[in-house]
Amino acid sequence: MIRVSRTVLPPLEEYVAYLEQLWDSAWVTNNGVLLRTLESRLAETLGVEHVVVVANGTLAIQLALRALELHGEVITTPFSYVATASSLVWEGCRPVFADIEADTLTLDPARAEALVTPATTGILATHVYGVPCDVEVLARLAERKGLRLVYDAAHAFGVRYRGRSLLTWGDASTLSFHATKLFHTVEGGAVVTANPSLAEAVRRLRSFGQTSPDVFVEPGINAKASEFHAAMGLCLLPRLPALIAGRREIAEIYDRGLTRLATPVERPRLRPGTDWNYAYYPLLLPDEGSVLRVQQRLRNAEVETRRYFYPSLSDLPYVSAAETPISRRAAARVLCLPLWPGLEPARAVAIAQLVVEELGAA
Ligand SMILES: *Cc1c(COP(=O)(O)O)cnc(C)c1O
Repeated sequence: MIRVSRTVLPPLEEYVAYLEQLWDSAWVTNNGVLLRTLESRLAETLGVEHVVVVANGTLAIQLALRALELHGEVITTPFSYVATASSLVWEGCRPVFADIEADTLTLDPARAEALVTPATTGILATHVYGVPCDVEVLARLAERKGLRLVYDAAHAFGVRYRGRSLLTWGDASTLSFHATKLFHTVEGGAVVTANPSLAEAVRRLRSFGQTSPDVFVEPGINAKASEFHAAMGLCLLPRLPALIAGRREIAEIYDRGLTRLATPVERPRLRPGTDWNYAYYPLLLPDEGSVLRVQQRLRNAEVETRRYFYPSLSDLPYVSAAETPISRRAAARVLCLPLWPGLEPARAVAIAQLVVEELGAA
């Protein structure tokens, strides 16, 4: 089976070299030297101020919401992975879904603005598939309305927009370093911010609200990342350019193969000035029926695809219903093809060919 994503692992000796350090020091968690090294290398590599690494990307969202004291209503996108919406609910906020832009599939700032009420405290938007949100307009909206702005940037690792890291926008951005993501620490995530006191608050919250051995200033949680996880990140980070280039190679094979379609399939639009990371290869097929047919056709050929992101989050059973027809329609039509560095080019050619056969060649 060709999986939709495949975890990248470094040469075992490199990881073992870090393990040897750990066996010497016997310091395996609690802000260890590997974690601190990873945090500073991430900040340097990405070109951002503060990176606070935590146990996973969901906790990163929760801690960012908590540290920014979001409560009441938070305007968010219905087109993302479930963790975006569920984290809001988990933190006691009410997700208010504004529909997305039909072309970029990111939160529509005009629709977001229309939903601002006196109870709104913030906006949580997702750079879905690494496609930048309309960050300039959202920044102005947040400023004008006095709202906090957080980006779920789980897909945006390494994306640059207008010459700088996409993660420099908003009060905070959150990353996921899950094994299926472009860069990973097995399980992990981070809060990225330019605000030093916010970074400090997240550091405190990830470790029981503790500031020194006997001082607990607020209720925190245990969201710490271990040295074993940090070691994986240290092994993979220098490979970032190769990881992105490897995905790009496959994506370009799909692009070429799919030019033979009788009717071109839509792809999410990247804003001008985006230096993308090829995090996913989503196709917007004509309708849900074609999604199911293409998915079955590929499954018969032992190729896994995924309906990232279905269902639309405004249809979750535990949120207040909202009419977000653009998101619902995108969720019904989207299908992601396998994309990982090291997928054999000939396989990618064959996958594109199957899609073309199912949908109709020119
Ligand atoms: C993967 C993902 C998360 C959750 O990250 P974990 O590290 O798996 O907890 C959150 N948001 C989005 C958009 C994601 O894709």
